[in-house]
Amino acid sequence: MTKAAFEAKPPVNAYGWAARDSSGVLSPFHFTRRANSDDDITVKILYCGICHGDIHLVKNKIWPTLYPTVPGHEIVGQVIRTGKNVTKFRVGDIAGVGCIVGSCGSCDNCKQDLENYCPKMLWTFQGQHEDGTRAFGGYSDNMVVEERYAVLIPNGFALAGTAPLLCAGITVTVVSSSPSKQKEAVERLGADSFLVSHDQEQLEAAMGTMDGIIDTVSSPHPLAFDWLAQD
Ligand SMILES: [Zn+2]
Ligand SMILES: [Zn+2]
Repeated sequence: MTKAAFEAKPPVNAYGWAARDSSGVLSPFHFTRRANSDDDITVKILYCGICHGDIHLVKNKIWPTLYPTVPGHEIVGQVIRTGKNVTKFRVGDIAGVGCIVGSCGSCDNCKQDLENYCPKMLWTFQGQHEDGTRAFGGYSDNMVVEERYAVLIPNGFALAGTAPLLCAGITVTVVSSSPSKQKEAVERLGADSFLVSHDQEQLEAAMGTMDGIIDTVSSPHPLAFDWLAQD
């Protein structure tokens, strides 16, 4: 969309908490977000997690922070407006927004859904959108975001607990002695990968790769501490 087309629609008023300097103090902040374009959704923010990255941002510890800055990149909210090209969301759906709200959309990384490696990747809370408006994070009452950078949160999720997943995310590996359970684990549970517990080669490859293990086997068995990552 051209800059002129962006300007034809009114911006969205927003209210949030901003840091004006590196003191670590946040204070109330009125600002505007870009108009909801054809590919965008507008989200009424319900929850936003507090990440250590927010503290780095506020205290100017990573980038030269652009002040005033509104932190927040673990965002969950309700969709209140959809652009005409939006296909993933309807008004009333729950959407999640993480660290990234923009990229070029045409480089090799973007074409492979690896926007985080795009040279024009835009952080949710730092930098400028294509139309020149500033990116402000989720410590605020609403957000306008291209649907590409939002995920649909399924019904029934505990939303306060969902928000922190939007930054770090989580991958799930199911470990079972029965290869026949792979289809169910991947297709119904949504697991990212599946390990057969008596396949030595698979087990060795998994060593040191997991951050936590939920063990549901009731019979006595050795615990697989070797799978846990050292950090
Ligand atoms: Zn984070
Ligand atoms: Zn790109």
